[in-house]
Amino acid sequence: MSGMYRDRVRGPKKRRLSFQRKVQLAAAALFNGYAAGFQKGKIFTSGSKALCVPVLNCYSCPGALGACPIGALQTALGAHHHFPFYVLGTLMLFGLVLGRVACGLLCPFGLVQDLLHKLPLPKVRVPKGLDRPARYLKYIVLALLVLLLPAFLPSDTGVTPPLFCKYLCPAGTLGGGIPLLLADPALRSVAGALFSWKAAVLAAILLAAALVRRPFCKYLCPLGAFYALFSRFSLCRMELDAHRCVQCGRCESICPMDIRVTQDLSGPECIHCGRCQEICPTEAISRSLGRRTAGEKNGPEASK
Ligand code: SF4
Ligand code: SF4
Repeated sequence: MSGMYRDRVRGPKKRRLSFQRKVQLAAAALFNGYAAGFQKGKIFTSGSKALCVPVLNCYSCPGALGACPIGALQTALGAHHHFPFYVLGTLMLFGLVLGRVACGLLCPFGLVQDLLHKLPLPKVRVPKGLDRPARYLKYIVLALLVLLLPAFLPSDTGVTPPLFCKYLCPAGTLGGGIPLLLADPALRSVAGALFSWKAAVLAAILLAAALVRRPFCKYLCPLGAFYALFSRFSLCRMELDAHRCVQCGRCESICPMDIRVTQDLSGPECIHCGRCQEICPTEAISRSLGRRTAGEKNGPEASK
């Protein structure tokens, strides 16, 4: 460790609810604020349901006050009426302002994965040779299940179903399907093979989350893939002060996305959770908001 910064190194912090966890809990409560829906087994249908939230939060969750943008995008494309300017524009605005802050701080399904990973089970690190290519899967899910098939797959009814929601989305099963079935016996009696498939997908992803950090965000989430396209331009970003960094490696060991933090902070895979910032002993990492200056970088050469 460089002597210049040794005296800046702080001792271990007391255990308390992190900034990330407080924001995640507040966001989950805000996006699912219609508590009566869980009791009645009915979804909220008033005006705010026309607005998209910035996270994967199922429209059919009994508490949901807004619409999931990925569900809204598939529904609009599948209707084959007109180009979905509103949903795509909203998503692009979220991407440009927040980037993947939505994944790290606001998404309820991100919170679920973080909590599951705290279970005292053996942890698995996916080998690099598998991890790297698997991260492109989420872009394929976005392109195929969310954009191309809903837009171009012919359908007898004239409306193509939202394929990601119907066959894959674990957040929809956890936040929408299961609570509705629990509250409504009539729905339980008609739940068939499709629900069994969705429950199996959910169970596999929840199990994976207990063993691997944020597997759904890394490999499958189409919303994360969409926001990742904006990471290099978004107003919110994480920054590294290379002069302060003593290369202790703590940030890289805690990063849930397994990023080489001192090389690629705020890249497409960074979800802006802020854990690296909290653990950094020299306060070399910070959050920043605003336009990037020309030639701005996040790597170690950033401030040389
Ligand atoms: S940025 Fe990472 S490697 Fe550098 S001092 Fe902070 S925790 Fe250690
Ligand atoms: S680099 Fe830092 S902010 Fe980004 S995902 Fe990793 S720990 Fe979170």
